[in-house]
Amino acid sequence: MLNIVLFGPPGAGKGTQATKIIEKYQLVHLSTGDILRAELAAKTALGQEAKKYMDKGELVPDKVVIDMIGLKIDKNHDASGFIFDGFPRTTAQAEALDILLNKKRAPISIMLSLEVEKEELIKRLLGRGKVSGRSDDRDVSVIENRIRVYNNETAPVKGFYEKQGKYRAVDGMGTIEEIFERLCKVIDQVRN
Ligand code: AMP
Repeated sequence: MLNIVLFGPPGAGKGTQATKIIEKYQLVHLSTGDILRAELAAKTALGQEAKKYMDKGELVPDKVVIDMIGLKIDKNHDASGFIFDGFPRTTAQAEALDILLNKKRAPISIMLSLEVEKEELIKRLLGRGKVSGRSDDRDVSVIENRIRVYNNETAPVKGFYEKQGKYRAVDGMGTIEEIFERLCKVIDQVRN
């Protein structure tokens, strides 16, 4: 199995690149942000609870997202691999993901970390906010908070994968195609 963690701050291009990667490598895309937004749209209890955090740019509690990801992994038992997008966002989530995947004897193959400058992130998120309808992409103070939460709570996850020899930083500046090529180069190294 090829299991990829696609990592990076909000606006780094994870969703865009994940779409291209799943097409090329036939993986199942698991984005906790997308799953939470679907819960919200369906007005489930989980969605209503998550909204309180998402509106402020805070992280939804670990247990909620870990249980959610566990269910999705079980549902896709015939997958040839997963790409995790926006998950794990804390070290506790990374530890839980290892346990879930070890049960399937299919550990994370690689963690690809998209590196993008803060000014560029804000520019991209505000641009996306104009077309996506996402309220958390339209308010600069919420965007700033999401970047702050990323730096404080999520960036340490790099160290978790670095210790396992799985962390790879990838330049996330440039065109979508340029970044995709850089990502594929690293993925092909671990596949071969
Ligand atoms: P995203 O689409 O990945 O930018 O996520 C949008 C929002 O969903 C985040 O600002 C968080 O409030 C919440 N969220 C998504 N993934 C996670 C996660 N792995 N852990 C906690 N909260 C999450």
